[in-house]
Amino acid sequence: MRYVSTRGEAPELDFGGVLLTGLARDGGLYVPAEWPKFSSAELASLRGRPYADIAFAVIAKFTGNEVAPTDLKKMIADAYRGFGHPAVTPLKQLNADQWLLELFHGPTLAFKDVAMQFLARVMDWALARRSMRAVIVGATSGDTGGAAIEAFKASRHASIFILHPQGLVSEVQRRQMTTVLSPSVHNIAIRGTFDDCQAILKALFNDHGFRDGVSLAGVNSINWARIMAQIVYYVAASLALAASGRDVNFTVPTGNFGDIFAGLVAKRMGAPIGRLVIATNENDILDRALRTGRYEVRGVKPSTSPSMDIQVSSNFERLLFEAHGRDAASVRRLMASLGQSGAFTIEAGPLAAIRAEFTSGTCDMTETAKVIARTLAETGELLDPHTAVGYGMALKERDYSGPMVTLATAHPAKFPDAVEKASGKRPDLPPSLAPLMMAEERVSVLANDPEAVKAFILERVKS
Ligand SMILES: *Cc1c(COP(=O)(O)O)cnc(C)c1O
Repeated sequence: MRYVSTRGEAPELDFGGVLLTGLARDGGLYVPAEWPKFSSAELASLRGRPYADIAFAVIAKFTGNEVAPTDLKKMIADAYRGFGHPAVTPLKQLNADQWLLELFHGPTLAFKDVAMQFLARVMDWALARRSMRAVIVGATSGDTGGAAIEAFKASRHASIFILHPQGLVSEVQRRQMTTVLSPSVHNIAIRGTFDDCQAILKALFNDHGFRDGVSLAGVNSINWARIMAQIVYYVAASLALAASGRDVNFTVPTGNFGDIFAGLVAKRMGAPIGRLVIATNENDILDRALRTGRYEVRGVKPSTSPSMDIQVSSNFERLLFEAHGRDAASVRRLMASLGQSGAFTIEAGPLAAIRAEFTSGTCDMTETAKVIARTLAETGELLDPHTAVGYGMALKERDYSGPMVTLATAHPAKFPDAVEKASGKRPDLPPSLAPLMMAEERVSVLANDPEAVKAFILERVKS
């Protein structure tokens, strides 16, 4: 399988190249040169199969003959063995047409585990094949850091450095990172904000001498392999619920647009999927873009669903590439406008193409709290605030027929204060988390300065 950049000016790469490169050299994101398709016979044979079998069928389409089938099967088995539910991503019915797809049964209780557990294994495979060691870096406002550390702590070929803003992540989130004492795991608390952490990361990647010297790699969702691993649960859930002539619809609590883009890819591959509903909190740039055609960056508003508090939705670029008939020049024009003026306008044709498959909407904090309380009263289910943004939208959405599946992206115990405030009920800490609250922590506090972080990484890599 060959991969091309959404901006058309970076070299085509194979799967292993894309995995280790992350962001393309022209600033674009990599996508497969064409979307692989399942035949109807293949889809029929996958219905009702275990998660690992569906994962193998999906992922093999994107890795082609680069990864040997036995290696791929082993990586998948290892990645999902530790999940707390035999179905890995089980469906739960809430009422006649409404379902939850529970994506939070991984070790850090958020959906990021699903992709990160696989990413760590496949990166080790790629590094081993190239006899390389890499330095993995990431910035986190909460969930990504814990999921990445948990996944990479046993890596044999990579060290991982995660930056978080000192004092600005929740206690559970911090402890999920800082209590992992493996020698290849390094937690850095930056005296600054999440935006400062991201700026430092950018500075590390833009210092080409440093970047090449330590073989720097990234784990955020611009990495194609993360999207790829997320396609699997859309295929599994849509096959489980589809009936003849009745497609399955999905509502997705959305931030960086990685998760919902995986739903579009599953649909392109032939999975029986209808509408894809983008649910945002008051950070509604995507909802505004779909309603008005104008994509315009404004300031971040802190909310009760912090993993969706973002200004620029990186993976939206992959949808723009599709909606413009894969014309990279159009994407370059929009991204140049975004860089210069913080905004761009989507023309009528591409906007219509997007609206043919996606709808969007916003649930603000007040509404989200009401959804949590109401869902507990009506169904006995306690939703985390991110999932509640999605479920609130799913209940408002009218433009679909057939089952509606809301992606449950985090366990309520990860956000106990917001959940208790909304519902009066404090979610129980799962037994797996209890030792966390007493375990020893290790973290280095550094100044808000890329040079300090570079020096720290170089020193740790040497020793
Ligand atoms: C990351 C995250 C999201 C947003 O997912 P994107 O792929 O960035 O759109 C939603 N909910 C939770 C709990 C998350 O951690």
